[in-house]
Amino acid sequence: MRAVTVTPGVADSLRLVEDHPEPAHEEGAILVESLAVGICGTDNEIIAGHYGEAPPGTDQLVLGHESLGRVVEDPTGTLQPGELVAAIVRHPDPVPCPNCAVGEWDMCRNGRFTEHGIKALPGFARERWRVQPRFAVGLDPALQRVGVLLEPTSVVAKAWDHIDRIGHRAEWQPQSVLVTGAGPIGLLAALLASQRGLAVHVLDLATDGPKPALATALGATYHSAPVNDLGFEPDIVLECTGAPSVVLDVMCKVGPNGVVCLTGVSSGGRTIDFDAGALNRTLVLENNVVFGSVNANRRHWDLAAAALAKADPAWLSSLITRRVPVDAYADAYIQQPDDIKVVLEFAS
Ligand SMILES: [Zn+2]
Repeated sequence: MRAVTVTPGVADSLRLVEDHPEPAHEEGAILVESLAVGICGTDNEIIAGHYGEAPPGTDQLVLGHESLGRVVEDPTGTLQPGELVAAIVRHPDPVPCPNCAVGEWDMCRNGRFTEHGIKALPGFARERWRVQPRFAVGLDPALQRVGVLLEPTSVVAKAWDHIDRIGHRAEWQPQSVLVTGAGPIGLLAALLASQRGLAVHVLDLATDGPKPALATALGATYHSAPVNDLGFEPDIVLECTGAPSVVLDVMCKVGPNGVVCLTGVSSGGRTIDFDAGALNRTLVLENNVVFGSVNANRRHWDLAAAALAKADPAWLSSLITRRVPVDAYADAYIQQPDDIKVVLEFAS
């Protein structure tokens, strides 16, 4: 069968293999026909040779961690043939650490977790794959065109879950949220914010292209000015750019008892002149919390599936700005200016 692979650590080794082996039974009882694979920055880092690890015994890694497929067979009866399914990316470490031991692999403490398409497990950019029932998430049949957004939605579902848990350390009645960055993570974070009835503000540098309209379609207010020019103090900030200056600005901008969730990964290596004492003073005197969030566990994947099922399918579909057939796979990995989410399609 066909599969999109790389040799991890070797730049530009991306290729479409025609005779990739069928998925091994050990991967899981549920056999799935691949429909689509979403592409994100992690894929591009792997293609550039900066990141990624092949499964043991091979130097090839099948790419793709944002999956959507259709069940071919499930002898366990967990899912029915024909059902839409996505697979959870991360598997617990083998020790396991205290968090992995209770299914919180998103909070793994020893870093020995594995991840499909990223770290020691084959990805989903292949015609067929297998999944164990506990890592399989069934999707509403109406999500056939957009269910590939489940993985990035799981990431923001975790962020919101943790924001809620932190907020409830005291009486908490948040009114407003600022989302910085209107990429797929930022816009999906804004979607979940709008589902909570909050006043949503989305900030991004883009003044044209699809981002402003996607934000306002959620009922959000779109800003392209600097954070410091905003005329309000948000109760919650979801930082999705990873840009160091934006990260620092939102930590200072959040209101009293505020919660700032950082989801963007900065590249590092740049220094900024910054008054750390003033930041400390603000955090202490206003009881503010700044925390980081990555990945998602089973509970978050299920929350994400529920969030997608109640979202507007047309809005979700417009997040997918390019759909590339697998024959033209290389085009999918070349970023274009108005891309939000690019999807590689295997079948329809
Ligand atoms: Zn662990």
